[in-house]
Amino acid sequence: MSTASSALDSPTAPLPGSRPAEVIAAERTLGGDLRVLARICRLILRYRGRVALAVVATVVAGLFQLAIPPLLGRAVNTALGLAGDASVSGAAAREGLFVAAALLLAASTLRGAFTLVQNYGGESIGHLLAYDLRLAFYRKLQQLSFSFHDRAHTGDLITRGILDIDGVRWLTSAGLLRVLLLAILIGAGAIQMISTDITLGLLSLSFVPFAIWKSTTTRLRLRALWLTVQEKMAILGRIMDENLSGIRVVRAFGAEPHELTKYDRAADEAMAITHERVRTRAGYSSVMTLSYFVALGLVLWVGGTRVLAGAMSVGTLTEFLTFMTILQLPVRQMGMVVNAFARAATCGARLFVVLDHQPTIAERPDAKTLENPRGVVRFDDVSFAYPGGGDSRTLHRVSFLVEPGRTLGLVGPPGSGKSTIAHLLPRYYDVTAGRITIDGEDIRDLTLDSLRRAVRVVQQDSFLFTSSLENNIAYGDPWADEDAIHRAAATSQIEGFVERLPERYQTLVGERGVSLSGGQKQRVAIARAALLEPPVLILDDSTAAIDAGTEWRIREALRAGAANRATIIISHRLSTLRHADEILFIEGGQIVERGTHEQLIALNGRYAALHALQGRHDLTEAQP
Ligand code: ADP
Repeated sequence: MSTASSALDSPTAPLPGSRPAEVIAAERTLGGDLRVLARICRLILRYRGRVALAVVATVVAGLFQLAIPPLLGRAVNTALGLAGDASVSGAAAREGLFVAAALLLAASTLRGAFTLVQNYGGESIGHLLAYDLRLAFYRKLQQLSFSFHDRAHTGDLITRGILDIDGVRWLTSAGLLRVLLLAILIGAGAIQMISTDITLGLLSLSFVPFAIWKSTTTRLRLRALWLTVQEKMAILGRIMDENLSGIRVVRAFGAEPHELTKYDRAADEAMAITHERVRTRAGYSSVMTLSYFVALGLVLWVGGTRVLAGAMSVGTLTEFLTFMTILQLPVRQMGMVVNAFARAATCGARLFVVLDHQPTIAERPDAKTLENPRGVVRFDDVSFAYPGGGDSRTLHRVSFLVEPGRTLGLVGPPGSGKSTIAHLLPRYYDVTAGRITIDGEDIRDLTLDSLRRAVRVVQQDSFLFTSSLENNIAYGDPWADEDAIHRAAATSQIEGFVERLPERYQTLVGERGVSLSGGQKQRVAIARAALLEPPVLILDDSTAAIDAGTEWRIREALRAGAANRATIIISHRLSTLRHADEILFIEGGQIVERGTHEQLIALNGRYAALHALQGRHDLTEAQP
């Protein structure tokens, strides 16, 4: 796919207080819009067979539609001729009328049949395109780096994946095919009418330019209002979402009146714009109908005068009036067509910006697979700044070595950079300077899959999917057998709890399942990693919500397989780290002290001070 240089207006512009989505936003231009539409057309042309069928059906349906006015005109003339001719027998008159009616019916039926094929073709192309885009978009979201997800608004991405794909989907049926139909009706129809009678032809078409102009400008106005309503609705949604998520805080602080006022204000604004939409739509409809009837009246007047003067047949006048009736609907729909183009350009631009985004963390073409990893982890003079964070470095020249069977402990104040170290090892981000190796291989030379199979991180915020406990534990290895799942649950000390649940491992957990406590969730997350028996295991404050006794038992159980594993434990609780082979005290992104527990106590520095503080705290807590 080529690069979309244009981008978006934003139906879900960043809400006040939300993270900016500048990473996926850009300015829109007319040239950019045209490029986006051209790109969508190229995607549509992938379905060549269906496109050909829909185009042929549209052309044929249009031609049959144009056949109706002359047929009707001829039928009227036949009827009048037969009625006025005394020499024609009743049977012959009926036959003449029957032929005229049968021709009319045949033309209408064929028009209907080809319109059906046109609608089917247009819709099916739209759905196929939406299907392809949906898959491509979801696949892209899986590939994009954390630096992208850190800055992109989740709600915005979901909108793009649903509403924007829908906006692109309508281009074929509501935009391209309708333009073709309208071009045939107006073009061929105008030639047909003007060649019959130039004055009446021009009068019949007189409402067309006004109607197209009015319907287009009104539609664009309605669209702008619709986008604003969407924005207001997004704000309403966010207020409600926050209110429901924080319902306990709202109630605890008696903030209901404040919350109601906030919601009322946003709802009022949305209502005002909705009213304006209704007014615009109603006004537009009346003006359009008036313009059509004025033109119809003029044709009747001029045509009627000619009929009375004997210069024109009633059938020809009927032909003009029928032509106007046929033209009325598609001309009124011109606004919808323009809207379909405008919407596809906006939505397509928003989608393509994401689809064209290149992940900053990518595999080298010659990336190696890490075969049978041993788990020798080395940080070599590593410095790191978060993307978009300017020059301010989160880590400064961090070096350490963890070998299989050994445990490294990381401790330090919040925000000192401990989790950042955990994020660099599986390459969620790339180092700014220095290098990280596993078994002597720079991790940037390895395939991401083999690297992330070797390094498993258990985060503090354990996320559970809405699925059974078994599926949650076996997430990294869906083929794991039951014994392995039970062993992992036993290691993380969650087995006893699971056994007491009525449906045991089949219990549904996650947002729509049984609510687990923070500690229980953390234990499921530890089981998920333990099941995979990785050569490098990082526990990032992942026992913070677990009591010290249970934590000790988890550590003992993990120790069983620890001989072949490098373990990195991040914790604010020093008792967790006490038995580590080396402990690093991190502050301001730097290692300020390092050694075993005993060495650090003997050093009598930052670690020893923290130890003394936690010791006192434990004592205070222990008192009745
Ligand atoms: P710790 O784990 O020691 O509490 P972190 O490694 O989480 O500390 O954070 C270190 C610093 O990096 C903090 O100042 C934090 O605000 C910043 N930081 C953490 N994550 C990101 C991110 N995704 N983008 C930008 N800055 C971040």
